[in-house]
Amino acid sequence: MKIAKLETFGNEFVCFVKATAETGDIGWGQTSTYMADITAQVFHRQVAPHALGTDALDFEDTLRLIQEREHKFPGSYLRRAMTGLDTALWDLRGRLEGKPVVELLGGTPGPLRAYASSMKRDITPEDEAARFLRLRDDHGFTAFKWRVGAECGRDRDEWPGRTEAVIPVVSKALGDGIDKLVDGNSCYSPARAIEVGRMLEDHGIGHFEEPCPYWEVDQTAEVRRALRIDVAGGEQDCEFTAWQLMIEHKAVDILQPDVMYMGGIHRTLQVARMGHAAGLPVTPHAANLSLVTMCTMHLLKALPNAGKYLELSIEGLDYYPWQDGLFLGTPYRVDGGHVTVPDAPGWGVEINPAWLDRSTHRVSERG
Ligand SMILES: [Mg+2]
Repeated sequence: MKIAKLETFGNEFVCFVKATAETGDIGWGQTSTYMADITAQVFHRQVAPHALGTDALDFEDTLRLIQEREHKFPGSYLRRAMTGLDTALWDLRGRLEGKPVVELLGGTPGPLRAYASSMKRDITPEDEAARFLRLRDDHGFTAFKWRVGAECGRDRDEWPGRTEAVIPVVSKALGDGIDKLVDGNSCYSPARAIEVGRMLEDHGIGHFEEPCPYWEVDQTAEVRRALRIDVAGGEQDCEFTAWQLMIEHKAVDILQPDVMYMGGIHRTLQVARMGHAAGLPVTPHAANLSLVTMCTMHLLKALPNAGKYLELSIEGLDYYPWQDGLFLGTPYRVDGGHVTVPDAPGWGVEINPAWLDRSTHRVSERG
């Protein structure tokens, strides 16, 4: 069954991809979010021409072929665009076989524990603690992640003293029996990261994400060696060489690939297998409620070395106005601290036709 048509429906934040086979069977996927209009152009110029006419069901080698044909263009944009193809074809196969993608991957649909993930740094420690407690009471979350330092902050804080305050204030408010995670987003030098890490250890926080600039693998490794708590990272990395380096240098305790930065499910599975061989769990990065989180849900329920929980963004339209109206229904509803991986065919979500009507539509077809 060959791929006959590849369409994109997007704006500058989100770009959905529709794959149509010569039989008329279809699947829906998405490229990675942000600069999605640029990614759509990469998709039609550097992905679709190589994919049209290839097998819609057996496509892992097609992804490698695209990489070889476009070998002068390693890095993020091509991977982001390849994700649109990969995720649309997994959906197509699921719809054709009447199975959710999680089953195609060897797992089962159903409940999946989620951690409530804050994206905000401009929030006071008291306000962050208060909204976490509301989320705990309303949705039963048992794990939370909040932010320390400033993003790529060169040891600076969002404002002086915020980190020293937000660690104890939020941790004490949550109390015992809750998994506590923080994210440094590449803020710190090793010396400062170790200082902050000691504070985290003293306040029962078990996960320190991206303490140092993520491209400085040796710095992250130094921090990991010095601390008892888990150091996590990898969300930006999309090349296998970067993962190899991270694993060989024992830079992290937890691998965090983003399925949409990576280039889709097939390529993320490869990172998960590298982690499995090294005895490392995988807690993927999934920072918004576009299709990335649904794809991550299906993947996590199928990985032998899945980490303890799904990252689930708690930010609403004040922070992510572009998330408005992407899907029909409520695919990310949380009950008792768990989301549900649907048992419907494919990804099991329906993209909102009204959103698609408002988007920019482009078509690549077999000539
Ligand atoms: Mg992060």
